[in-house]
Amino acid sequence: MQTLSIIIPCYNEESVIETTYGRIKAILSSLSSVSSQMIFINDGSKDKTLDILSDIANKDLSVKVINFSRNFGHQAAVTAGIHHCTTDFAVIIDADLQDPPELIPELLTKQKEERANVVYCVRRKRIGESKFKLWTAKKFYRTLNRLSEVDFPLDTGDFRLIDSQIIEQFKRFKERGKYIRGLISWVGFKQVPFYYEREARLAGETKYPLKKMLSFATTALFYFSKKPLLMATGLGFATVVIGIFMALWYILGKIFGYTNAESGWTSIMIIVIFFGGIQLLTIGVLGQYIGILFDEVKERPEYIVKDFINGK
Ligand code: UDP
Ligand code: MG
Repeated sequence: MQTLSIIIPCYNEESVIETTYGRIKAILSSLSSVSSQMIFINDGSKDKTLDILSDIANKDLSVKVINFSRNFGHQAAVTAGIHHCTTDFAVIIDADLQDPPELIPELLTKQKEERANVVYCVRRKRIGESKFKLWTAKKFYRTLNRLSEVDFPLDTGDFRLIDSQIIEQFKRFKERGKYIRGLISWVGFKQVPFYYEREARLAGETKYPLKKMLSFATTALFYFSKKPLLMATGLGFATVVIGIFMALWYILGKIFGYTNAESGWTSIMIIVIFFGGIQLLTIGVLGQYIGILFDEVKERPEYIVKDFINGK
């Protein structure tokens, strides 16, 4: 019999978690040919999420809970879920039911039909999300594709089915800043899309405020692309060329008397600000990569588990 894990990261999801469990459980019970378990990761919730999860896990032994010592973020939570996965397949799904669990059987069918290692879900439509989020997400995925060496599928979140080969390869990634959907694309094997409509959050509010969205986007960009460094070099080169022309212009102007160099306060200020700005910008880009190196060489654990319910 094939085995399946459902990986569900949870952060302050007390208003939805019970319903989420119920809906996933109903679907899993209907799958007679697969033996399944649910892995909930409590990512340092400050509300009653953990209490609710413990109650559920005490009644249902197929529910495992990985309880973090504090909030480590969505990607760390999914990572922990995959690390503790030993089944033939895993489905990564959000706790807020934006990704309908009813699609899980279809993902399994698609996997079987196409003999795929990954079935990734592409959002054809996103309901109940702000215009700003839709626009930034769209721009983000397209820009990232242009800048990175990997071809990522567009409009795809972490909602996907992966098989044991992918799970095994994923466990080999040592980097701490994880952009999971990117890493899974990067692994290769056979990956096929599955189109769906993303629903609105069932209850509660998004756990991805602008700050987290930005940090998520930055990780994706700087971990998957060295182009910003190349762009910084290009910018430096371009300003050197501009500088040479300006120098020539002013020197010749001095000789032939067509510039009024004495009253040149404005031009000097512009040059100072312009070059100063470019220098700071390029140093900033360098700084981003140094910051990442700093974080990675420390080799701190990505997450800390306080305890498990129903085994590891
Ligand atoms: N999440 C998490 N840790 C965090 C933030 C979010 O485990 O620090 C979980 C959250 O509980 C949900 C999933 O990640 O199951 C996606 O978060 P959310 O639905 O808030 O993001 P959105 O759908 O608004 O992008
Ligand atoms: Mg959501």
